[in-house]
Amino acid sequence: MQDVIILGATGSVGRQTRDVIAAHPDRFRAVGLAARQDVEEMRALVRELEPDWVYLADASRADALASDLPPGVEVGSAPEFLTDRILEAPSDTAVVAAMAGFAGLRPTLAAARRGLRVCLANKETLVAAGALVCETARRHGASLVPVDSEHSALMQAIGTERLHVAHLWITCSGGPFRGWEAAALDGVTVEQALRHPTWRMGQKITVDSATLMNKGLEVLEASWLFEMPLERIGVVVHPESIVHSMVEMEDGAVMAELSQTDMRIAIQLALTWPERLPSPARRIDWAERQSWHFEAPDEAVFPALRLCREAGRQGGAAPTVLNAANEEAVTRFLRGDIRFSDIWRLTEAVLGRMPSLSCGSLAEILEADGWARREAARWRPVTVGGPSC
Ligand code: MG
Repeated sequence: MQDVIILGATGSVGRQTRDVIAAHPDRFRAVGLAARQDVEEMRALVRELEPDWVYLADASRADALASDLPPGVEVGSAPEFLTDRILEAPSDTAVVAAMAGFAGLRPTLAAARRGLRVCLANKETLVAAGALVCETARRHGASLVPVDSEHSALMQAIGTERLHVAHLWITCSGGPFRGWEAAALDGVTVEQALRHPTWRMGQKITVDSATLMNKGLEVLEASWLFEMPLERIGVVVHPESIVHSMVEMEDGAVMAELSQTDMRIAIQLALTWPERLPSPARRIDWAERQSWHFEAPDEAVFPALRLCREAGRQGGAAPTVLNAANEEAVTRFLRGDIRFSDIWRLTEAVLGRMPSLSCGSLAEILEADGWARREAARWRPVTVGGPSC
C-alpha cells in the first residue's frame, strides 16, 4: 500500500490523481490533501478519499471546511502545518506536487528534504529553483519523477539507455494559435487563449500553452530532470498530441512514447515507476486511419521559446525571474490588464532589467522572485502610434 499526499488536490492533476487512487484502492491511500481555497471540492475529496489531514492555504476557508468534516481529519492553513506533515511522512510516501506555479516550491522542497518520491507536475518549481531542488533531492535520496506528459514520455523512452542519448525532442501541440501571424496575436481574447486544442488543464498552464511559454519552461524542466544541456533539447510541433516526446539515440534511432491525451497515465506511472499498472485511459484505435504531423515551431511569432532558452543559458537568477515575470503577466492578461502578446513583451522587459542577483539559497530565490513580480506589476505596454521623442 502506497501512501500518497496530493498538493494541488482540487486542480486538474489533483482530481485525476483521485481517479488513479480510486481505480486502485488496494494499492494507493491518500493520506493528505492540500489546495488553495476550494472548500466544496475539498469536502467532496475528503468524503471520497478519507485522508488523515487536509490543508487549505486560505485560513477562513480552512475554518469553514473544518466545521463540516468527519471526526479525526486534521485541518490546517499555516504553511508550517503543510511542511510539518510532509516532513513527518513515512519515507515511502509519494507526494504528487501539482500546485500551480511558484507556490509549489516550499512544499516540494520539504518533500525532497524528507527523501520522498516526488511526482512532479509543477514545472515552475524546477524552472525557478532547479539547482536547489535537484541538490536537495540528491542529498536526501528523494526521487523526482515527472508527471508532465512530455517528461514522462522522455523518462520512458530513455529507459536504461541514458548513456546513449544524443538529443531530446519535446513535442508541442502548437496551441490554439498555430499558423497565426504575429500581428493577429495582439487581439487574442482570454476566451480564445483558454481554448486549448487537445488538453483540458488549469488556466495558467493553458495560457502558457497558447504563448508556447509552457514549452520553453518544459525545455528548462527537461534540462534539470535529465541533466541535459539546452542545445541538446529540441521542440517539435505535433498538433495531434499522440507522440508525447522522443529521444534520439547516438546511432540515430528514435524512441517515442505514444498514447491518448489522458494525464492519468503519466500520474499513475509517476506513482509506480518503473512498475506499471492497468489504467482506464482510452486506447489508440489502430484500426482507424490517422495521420500525424510534425513541424518546427515558429519562433518569430512565438518568442517565448527563445526567451526561455536565453534565460536558461544565462543561468543564475534569470530562470527564476523569467518564471515570476511570466506568472504575473499571465495573471494580468487574465484580468484584462494587458494584451496576449504583452505576456512575452513584459517577460522580456523584466529579464532585460534584471540586476545582478544571487540565486543559490531559498531566501535568494524568494528575493529574485519578489523583485521580478514587482517589476512585472509596474510594467506598462508601449502605446503604438503615440508621440515620438
Ligand atoms: Mg506538458
